[in-house]
Parts: sequence; C-alpha cells; structure tokens
Amino acid sequence: MATNRTFTMLKPDSVEKGHIGAILEKINASGFRIVAMKLTQMTTADAEEFYAIHNERPFFGELVEYMTRGPIVAAILEKENAVEDFRTLIGATNPADAAEGTIRKLYAASIGENAVHGSDSDENAAIEGAFHFSGREMF
Ligand code: UDP
Ligand code: MG
Repeated sequence: MATNRTFTMLKPDSVEKGHIGAILEKINASGFRIVAMKLTQMTTADAEEFYAIHNERPFFGELVEYMTRGPIVAAILEKENAVEDFRTLIGATNPADAAEGTIRKLYAASIGENAVHGSDSDENAAIEGAFHFSGREMF
C-alpha cells in the first residue's frame, strides 16, 4: 500500500450506536477518499492477531471481547499524509484527552470503547489493510 494510505475500523460501539454514517461523513469532509470498505466481524483469532502487539497488556482480553462482539466497518483511506492526518482526526486514545471536534471526542465512550481505529505508521497501515482486504479489493 502506498504511503498516502491509512487503514481504519469503525469499531463495534460505532456500529451499535448507529454512528457509521456520521463518522464516514466526517472522514470524507476531512479530505479522505474511501479506497476500499466493508462491514465485517472479526473472530477471536482475528482480533488476537490484529492486536498481537498488545497481548501482554492488562486490557488485552477486554479488547478482544469488544472488537469481536459485533460488526465493524473496515476501510482503506487515501489522502496526502494519510496516517498522521487521520490520527489527528480521530484524536487521543482516551476520549477524555481527545481534542474538541475529533471523532473520539464526539463518539467514543471510554479509553476501551473508543469508536475508531487508525493505523499509527505507514508500515502498519499496509499490514492492517492487507489483513482485511485482498489485493483485488484494494482498487
Ligand atoms: N485500549 C484499552 N485500554 C488502554 C489502552 C488501549 O482498552 O488502556 C484499547 C483501545 O480500544 C485502543 C486499543 O486498545 O484503541 C489499542 O491501543 P493503542 O494504544 O494502540 O491505541 P490507539 O492506537 O487505538 O489510539
Ligand atoms: Mg495503536
């Protein structure tokens, strides 16, 4: 995946609360083009692999439970400086620390249930995009 791309998930809480439309609207309004997108549900094995970097952390079990409890929207987004600009758009991991107007400030309930994922590097954007989409889907 090119470095002008990032990967996002609208997490189960966003889907449950009916926030898909509002969050996608904000993503588009912020200049991101949706390159690939699907509604899908992660298995326990999927979530354990996706978040493997956190598998020693005390919140890992809860994180896997949360991320597998219902559907997510997975998407690849394109924009100049996509990774950094998307992290700015979503705000801090803990919504209590997130800047006004960010997606997490607007829609996240807590540090655990924080509405959206955004890749933290170009390398991880490529790995995470490929985790959810085949080459043919990444048009
Ligand atoms: N998380 C959590 N408790 C914490 C830190 C993180 O439940 O104390 C969850 C939260 O859903 C977060 C995810 O684990 O989005 C990954 O954590 P990371 O530190 O990578 O935050 P992010 O990159 O999503 O901002
Ligand atoms: Mg992270």
